[in-house]
Order: sequence, then C-alpha cells, then structure tokens
Amino acid sequence: MRFEKGKLIKDLTTLGIGGRAKLFATVHSEKELEEVFEKADSLSWFVIGSGSNVVGPDGGFDGLIIKININQFKNSRSGIIVGGGNNLLAFIKKINSLGYRGMEKMAGIPGTIAGAIYGNAGAYGQEIKDNITRVRIFDGKHFRWISRKVCEFGYRSSIFKKNKNWIIVGAEFKLEKGDPEKLEVASRETMRLRYKKYKRGILCPGSFFKNIVLGDLGSLSRKKLLSRIDQSKINHGKLPTGYLLEEVGAKGMSSGKIFVSEHHGNLIFNNGGGRAKDIKILAKKLKEKVFRKFGIMLEEEVQYL
Ligand SMILES: Cc1cc2nc3c(=O)[nH]c(=O)nc-3n(C[C@H](O)[C@H](O)[C@H](O)COP(=O)(O)OP(=O)(O)OC[C@H]3O[C@@H](n4cnc5c(N)ncnc54)[C@H](O)[C@@H]3O)c2cc1C
Repeated sequence: MRFEKGKLIKDLTTLGIGGRAKLFATVHSEKELEEVFEKADSLSWFVIGSGSNVVGPDGGFDGLIIKININQFKNSRSGIIVGGGNNLLAFIKKINSLGYRGMEKMAGIPGTIAGAIYGNAGAYGQEIKDNITRVRIFDGKHFRWISRKVCEFGYRSSIFKKNKNWIIVGAEFKLEKGDPEKLEVASRETMRLRYKKYKRGILCPGSFFKNIVLGDLGSLSRKKLLSRIDQSKINHGKLPTGYLLEEVGAKGMSSGKIFVSEHHGNLIFNNGGGRAKDIKILAKKLKEKVFRKFGIMLEEEVQYL
C-alpha cells in the first residue's frame, strides 16, 4: 500500500468531475486499511468505491481518499462472504453461475458491493439489502460485523449515510437457489434495458435525484402532489422523479457543460469539462421548479464529496 499525491478526483468518478486529492490510497486488505489509518490519522478522509455516485469538488479535497479494493469471495454453508471492493456486476455474474437468485436484476448497476450497501442500491424490484445477513465494518480502530437490522436499510438509504465514520469492508449474503441459465438470461435482459437509458461512456452518476416515496410524505403534501400528477405514473408506491422533472421542462436544461438529458429528466450528465459548481446550480434550479409546481423538495441520490 502506498500513498499517491495529487490524484485527480475526476478520474475516480463516472461523472468525471473533481480537482486533486491531497492523498489517495487503494487498500486491498483489512490490514492495509489499518495501516492507512495509522499513517494518516489526523487527515480528514473520504472512502470511495467505483465513484459511480459521487460528485467531486472542483477545488479538490485537502485530505485522503481511500479506495476500498478488498476482493475476497468465500462461499460456505452459512452464506457467501465477500469483500466490499468486489465489483457488483462481477459478483452477480458469479452468483448467477453458482445458481443463487435474488440479485440478477441488479446486473449493470455500476460500482462495488460496499458502494451498493452504502446507498442500498437497487433496480427492477431488487435491492442489495434483500439478501444481506450482516455487514463487516471498520470504525477507524476496530473491525466488526453488524447485523442487517443495525444497517437500517431503506429506499436508497442506510445507517452508513448517517454514520460516515463506518467503512464497509465486507458483507455476508444468504441467497435462495435458482437456475443458473435463467438467472443469466434475466441479467442479460436487464442490462439490455439499462444500455437503452444509459449510453455507454456517458459521464453521469446514474439517477441524480431519489424517486418520491409517497408513504414518506406528510398527508397534506401527498394530497397536493396527487392532485397535480398523472397517478398512473406511480409504481409500487413511488413516483419517478424523472416524471416530475419532465413536467417542469427539465429536459435539455443546462449550466455550463452540465446538461439534463433530452431522453430522461433525472439523468444529468457532464458533456466534458463540467464542474461541480454547475451541477449545484442546475440541481438548485431543478429543485426550485419542482417545488413551485408540486410542493415537493427533491433530494439528491448522488453524494457530494
Ligand atoms: C450509469 C449508471 C447507472 C446507475 N444505475 C443505478 C441503479 O439502477 N440503481 C442504483 O441504486 N444506483 C445506480 N447508480 C448509482 C451507483 O451505481 C450506485 O449508487 C452504486 O452502488 C455506487 O457504488 P460505488 O462503488 O461506485 O460507490 P461510490 O460512488 O464510490 O460511493 C458512493 C457513496 O458510498 C460511499 N462508500 C463507497 N464505498 C464505501 C465503503 N467501503 N464504506 C463506506 N462508504 C462507502 C461513498 O463515500 C459515497 O458516499 C447508477 C450509476 C451510474 C453511473
């Protein structure tokens, strides 16, 4: 393990934005993670996976960025234990081939296992929380397992969004058995659909804002919202934010080199050379427009470093 100076954050994220980090380290084991903390304990730090949900700061980060690349995979009778740095798609392909079902429709969500746990990533009715039994964390001093219940998983949320000093180093999954061939077909089909929405190579962080969970709204806001929308857009208790954004004319809006896609209101991308400053300007405008028309304050799914 070695520290790298002045690494460009834009090269660590799929959005391609962010200045230089004072220090950067990739860790491949729990021992290396401990070493990093021993050597750099007074620095502020930020942990990253594949950077597929992160907006880096234009001015860089005066601290240490730690990339978790712990990649073990162990299949035992009690469950599958994996390192947090495993690529999610590679993991899904592996469990598909072993005949474990429950995550096949998450194929194609970019990122690592740890990143997916942090935001309880999901797609097409499956979420990473569904098959997790426990998560292994490092709190800066000690490693320990915490139960699924302690993780407080919800829609794109978990305890890790509140408790930022817990680093996810691994997880245990328990999955039902399925037919490997059918699972592989399901994953391939999911990925085909995904590539329609996200053109290969697009610089973006996936959906920018979270969808609206109607059950989480107060009764007045819900009533007001329901009176102003096409209710057939509601799917499993959630209203797609893309729909609200499209209703306020978001498609094609821009700030600097940052654009809202012409195809999807909740897809914000960097057209090359974009800045975090413009992301924030555009996000603020979009929030204001939606609030004015629907009385709903959108919440970012992306994470600002
Ligand atoms: C094209 C595209 C499509 C997408 N589609 C989906 C989708 O369908 N569904 C979905 O849910 N998401 C989607 N996303 C968003 C993104 O892929 C997920 O949020 C993903 O789980 C992030 O994983 P990551 O490893 O890249 O995390 P990063 O982006 O590196 O980090 C995300 C957050 O997790 C934290 N984090 C990362 N690793 C750790 C760790 N070891 N310990 C503690 N905290 C950590 C970071 O500090 C950061 O706050 C999409 C993104 C893109 C670019």
